[in-house]
Amino acid sequence: MSLLIKNIGELFDGYKIIKNTSIYIENGKIKSIGKEEKADEIIDASNKFVMPGFVDCHTHAIFSGYRAFEIEWKIEGLSYKEIAERGGGITYTVEQTRKASKEKLKKETMERIEEMIKHGTTTAEIKSGYGLDTENEIKMLEVINEIKNNAAIDIVPTFLAHATPKGMEADDFVDIVIEEMLPEVGERKLAKFCDVFCEIGYFSVEQSRKILMEAKKYGMLPKIHADEFSCMGCSRLAAELKAASADHLLMTSEKEMELLADAGVVATLLPATPFVLNEEYPDANKMLRYGIEIALATDLNPNCYVTNMQFVVQLACYKMRVKPIEALKAATINAAKALKMEKEVGSVEVGKKADILIMDVPSHLFIPYKVGVNLIEKVIKNGKVIYSQQ
Ligand SMILES: [Zn+2]
Repeated sequence: MSLLIKNIGELFDGYKIIKNTSIYIENGKIKSIGKEEKADEIIDASNKFVMPGFVDCHTHAIFSGYRAFEIEWKIEGLSYKEIAERGGGITYTVEQTRKASKEKLKKETMERIEEMIKHGTTTAEIKSGYGLDTENEIKMLEVINEIKNNAAIDIVPTFLAHATPKGMEADDFVDIVIEEMLPEVGERKLAKFCDVFCEIGYFSVEQSRKILMEAKKYGMLPKIHADEFSCMGCSRLAAELKAASADHLLMTSEKEMELLADAGVVATLLPATPFVLNEEYPDANKMLRYGIEIALATDLNPNCYVTNMQFVVQLACYKMRVKPIEALKAATINAAKALKMEKEVGSVEVGKKADILIMDVPSHLFIPYKVGVNLIEKVIKNGKVIYSQQ
C-alpha cells in the first residue's frame, strides 16, 4: 500500500514550514518528502495546510459521569471546595467511575477518542486516577489497555496517583500504592508512565518521590502534575528524577525553570484548565527563554472537557502569547517527547509513522485565526485515512 499527498500548499513538518511539497507513504511509514513517486492512491492537497497528527500528551479521558451540572455554579464563582460540598468535584467522578462496568467505561472513553480523532489527534496519553483503590485503578488501566489494542490511534497508558480517598491519610494511601497497586501495574505492564499529583492537600514532594522511585523499579517512567496551585518543590523533583515531563506549571519559579531546562524535562502546559477555571495562564515565553521545551495538551477530564487540540493551540497563541509555529511544535513533536515517542510520531520525517492532518486552510496561521471551527479535512494514521470530513 502506498499513498502520495501531492501539491501540498503549506507543510509544517514539526519544526518549520515548507511550501509546495509532497509526502510519499509506504506501508504506513513516511518514505520520502518532496518527491512525486508513483503511488496506489493520491490525495491532492492544493491550497491546503498539512501537518503531523496532534499528540495529546496529558489526558484523563477515562472516567464515568459528566459534570455539566457544575457549570452554573462555576459561573456564579463557587470555589472548587464549595462545588465539592454540593456533591460535585472529584468525589462525584470517583463514585461514578467505581460504579461503572468495564464495558460502560470503555464505551464512554471510545466516544471521547472518536471526538479527539475528528479534531486531529493521532496519539493520546490516558491516565488512571479516578478509582483510588486497587480494584478500580486496575480496572481503569485494563480498559485503557483494551482501548490501546483496539483504537485507530496510538494510546499511551499512565498510572496516576491522583488523590487520597475520603477518610484516609495520604501516607496510608501511599502505602497501598506501593504495596498493592504498583506491583500489579508493573508486573502486568499496564502502564508506561507513573504520574503523581504533587500538590498541597494531595501528595507532598516526599510522598511523590517515594511513589515515583518505586514505579521506576518496574520500568515506569516518571511524570509529575507540578506547581498547579502552589510552588512547593514539585518541578524541582521532576528535574531531580529527570521526569519525562512536568505538567501544569502555573506557579513555577525562575529557579525551578532553570532546573527543568538543565534536566531536559519537557514542560507540558494545559491552557484549557485555567480557561475553564478562570485562572492565570503559565508563563510560556519565560520558559522558552530559559530553554525549556514546552508541550501542549488538552488535560481532558470531567472538570475540563476539551478534546480539541486546535482549541488548545488557539489558547496558547492568544492567552499565553506563544507564536503559532511554537504552539504547533508544542502540540506535535514536543508532545511526542513528553511521551518518549519522538522517534516514532510527532513530525513528518522519513521513517516515521505517517500520522498526517490535512486542513482546509491555506496556512498554519489559520489555526489560531479561525477560532472554534474544526479545520480538519482528513486525518491519516499509519498511512490510512481514519477520518474524512466529506
Ligand atoms: Zn491532569
